[in-house]
Amino acid sequence: MRRLRNVKIVATLGPSSDDYEMIRALFETGADVFRLNMSHGSHEDFRRRHGIIRQIEEDTGRPIAILADLQGPKLRCGVFANGREELQTGQPFRFDLDETPGDAIRARLPHREIFDALEPGATLLVNDGKIRLKVGSCGADFADCEVIAGGEISDRKGVNVPDVVLPLAALTKKDRADLEFACSQGVDWIALSFVQRPGDINEARALVDGRASVLAKVEKPSAVRVFDDILAVSDGVMVARGDLGVELPIQNVPPIQKRLIRKCRAAAKPVIVATQMLESMIDSPMPTRAEVSDVANAIYEGADAVMLSAESAAGKFPIEAVRTMHNVAVEVEDDPTYRAVIEASRLAEKQSVADGIVSAAREIAETTDIQAICCFTQSGTTAALVARERPRVPIIAMAGLRSTARRLCMTWGAHCVEVGEMGRFKQAVVRAVRAATSEGFATKEDQIVVTAGVPFNEPGTTNILRVAPCDERLIYRAEPE
Ligand code: ATP
Ligand code: MG
Ligand code: MG
Repeated sequence: MRRLRNVKIVATLGPSSDDYEMIRALFETGADVFRLNMSHGSHEDFRRRHGIIRQIEEDTGRPIAILADLQGPKLRCGVFANGREELQTGQPFRFDLDETPGDAIRARLPHREIFDALEPGATLLVNDGKIRLKVGSCGADFADCEVIAGGEISDRKGVNVPDVVLPLAALTKKDRADLEFACSQGVDWIALSFVQRPGDINEARALVDGRASVLAKVEKPSAVRVFDDILAVSDGVMVARGDLGVELPIQNVPPIQKRLIRKCRAAAKPVIVATQMLESMIDSPMPTRAEVSDVANAIYEGADAVMLSAESAAGKFPIEAVRTMHNVAVEVEDDPTYRAVIEASRLAEKQSVADGIVSAAREIAETTDIQAICCFTQSGTTAALVARERPRVPIIAMAGLRSTARRLCMTWGAHCVEVGEMGRFKQAVVRAVRAATSEGFATKEDQIVVTAGVPFNEPGTTNILRVAPCDERLIYRAEPE
C-alpha cells in the first residue's frame, strides 16, 4: 500500500475515531501517524486505541507511527454536568476550586496557583482563545469574571492567562506517569507540551530512555526565542499554533511557522504544522477556502506533516478531513511552483559523506530514468537526509529496525519498509528491488538507486551508492558481493 503524496498526515484519535473500523478507514484514507492526546481519555482508552493501531499494522503489513502527546503544564478547566455550556457575552461567570461539575454560571479551575497570581482586570482565555473573560474580583479560591467574548466551553478546555507569569515545571507529575505508561505500551514519538528550554527536552529524554523519539511542541514565546537550542536536542518539532496564537500576538504565528519549518528541514528533523487546519470540518463536511489554503501553504513551506486535532478526534467528519488533506497534498505536490520553491530552498553545503551520497542519489535519480531511491537506514538518519533533499522520485526507507520504520512515518516522503538484519550488499539490493517492484514503484525494466552502509547494522555509516536494475537475474549476474 503506497501513498501518492509525500507530506504526511497526523490524525488525533478521540471519541469520533474510537473503533477498529473508523481508525482503519482513517489509515486507508491517508493518516500516517496517530496522535493520542494524554490530556483526554484514560489510560484504558489509550491502551485500547494503541492495540487497535498495532492490529491495523499487522492486518495491512504497513508500519504506523503512534505519537503520545503529554499534556504538560497546561491549565485546563474541569468538567461540566452537561459536558458543555454556551457562555453569552456580557454574562458573569465564576471559576473556583469546587469539584462539583460546572454549569452555565461556574466551573472548576483546578489550579490553585492561578488564583494566587490573578489580579482584577486580568484576561482569561478559554479553548485556544475562542472565549475571553475579564476578572472582576478574585480571591484564593475563586475568580468572578465577565464574559467579554462568548462561545462554547466544554470539558477540560485549555485556559490561558497571558497577563500573568506562572512558575511552570516542564513535566508535571501526571506527565511523568503518562510518559512511563506510554513508553511501556510502546509508542514511537513522545511530544512534550509547553517546552521552554532545551533542558525540558533533556529531562524528558532521560525518562524516555531510548524507548521513543522526542518531539518538542513549540507553543511558548520562550521556545521561539531559544528555538535553535531546542531543535538541537529534539528529534522533531510541532508548530502548535493553538497556544502559540494565544501566548503571542496571533499575527506573529505565520512568520514563526515559516521560520521553524525551514530550520527543521535544514536540521533534517521532521516538523508538523498543527491546530485548526480544517477547524470548520468539526461540524461541516466541507472546509473553508481559507483552511484549504492553510493546509496547502504549510505544504508549500516544506512541512513534513500536517495535523488534524478535534477534526478527527471529536468532529463529525474525520474521514472527510483526512481525505481533504490528502487531496490538497496531491494537488500541491503536483504543482510546478511547489517543486520550484522546494528546490530553491535546498541546502547547498554538504556536511558529511552521507550527505554527499544522498544528494548524489537524488541527482542521479532525477537526471536518469530511475524510479525510486531505496535507502538502507538503521537509526533513520540516512532516510531523514534523503528526505531533506526532497527528491522528485519516491523514497523507500529500508529500515533495519521496526521502531525506525514506524518513527519515519512522520518524515516527508518516506515509504517505510521493515527489512530486519541484512548480511551482504547483494542481498540488500535484491530486497530493495523487491520492495520497489512489489509496491508498484518500479517494474522489471526500471532501475533504482540504492544507498547503504557496509558493514550493515552499524548506524551512521552510509558509504555506498549503487544504480541497480530491477530485474533480479541481472543483479545476480552483475552485483559484486
Ligand atoms: P492540545 O493543546 O494538546 O492540542 P487540546 O485540548 O487542544 O490539547 P486536541 O488533541 O488538539 O486537544 O483535540 C481537540 C479536542 O478534541 C479536545 O479539546 C477534545 O475536546 C477532543 N479530544 C481529543 N482527544 C480526545 C480524547 N481522547 N477523548 C475525548 N476528547 C478528545
Ligand atoms: Mg496545545
Ligand atoms: Mg489542540
